[in-house]
Amino acid sequence: MYTVSDICRLIEDFAPLSYQETYDNAGLILGSREMKLTGALICLDVTEAVIDEAISLGLNMIVSHHPLIFKGIKSITGKNYIEDCLVKAIKNDVAIYAGHTNVDSVRHGVNGKMAEKLGLQNCRILVPVNSNSVDGEEYGLGMVGDLPFAENENDFLARVKNVFHCHRIRYSEPTGKPISRVALCGGSGSEFIEQARIAGADVFLTGEARYHEFFTKGQNILMIDAGHYETEQFTKEVFFDLISKKLPTFAVRISRVETNPVYYL
Ligand SMILES: [Zn+2]
Repeated sequence: MYTVSDICRLIEDFAPLSYQETYDNAGLILGSREMKLTGALICLDVTEAVIDEAISLGLNMIVSHHPLIFKGIKSITGKNYIEDCLVKAIKNDVAIYAGHTNVDSVRHGVNGKMAEKLGLQNCRILVPVNSNSVDGEEYGLGMVGDLPFAENENDFLARVKNVFHCHRIRYSEPTGKPISRVALCGGSGSEFIEQARIAGADVFLTGEARYHEFFTKGQNILMIDAGHYETEQFTKEVFFDLISKKLPTFAVRISRVETNPVYYL
């Protein structure tokens, strides 16, 4: 029987915890490493509904992208959903693990999956980290790659909306030029637009941008904000493929709960 430790090792061999950002809290969040596992449920965010789903499926580990806990907790009294989730998971012996900015940073992680969904070629890391990685492979945030054929801006915008199942997307003033090079960063990555421009990208696709960041006139680049959840949702496939390929007899499922906390009218 596999243990929590086996899953931690598998994910961390793929995306070492040392690659995470300083503010992050990736890794094992709840549960003992020796705990024997009946299976794992993959999600983007841990919510009570996700924990209920794991319990009903008989799976005693949850692997999420966003860490349930970011900051220190001094008491657990049901003040918010984080505490409610912790209580429910502890009472039901469910372990919780998060692979976050370390999974953003590897080539075949969050951004590599987005690039794959858009059909980008010749991909490289947009903002590489200048230190030696564990296996000698480059890591860092964002990705830049080329479309096999140039697309006009409207076609590309429509495709992004469709590929990422967006209710709506926000974008800056069109530049009027065709799109061949695409830079992207899933989640909140709008600060990398300058690196995208330097990399020669015609468009920068991210999950969260502020009002003033849409003033791109004169910069010759189209900025697209397609939503945080929307741009990162395929990270569930990253975890699923990794675990199911390495441990074919282990029960792993992708959560069916919609955890996007943003509603649209
Ligand atoms: Zn995120």
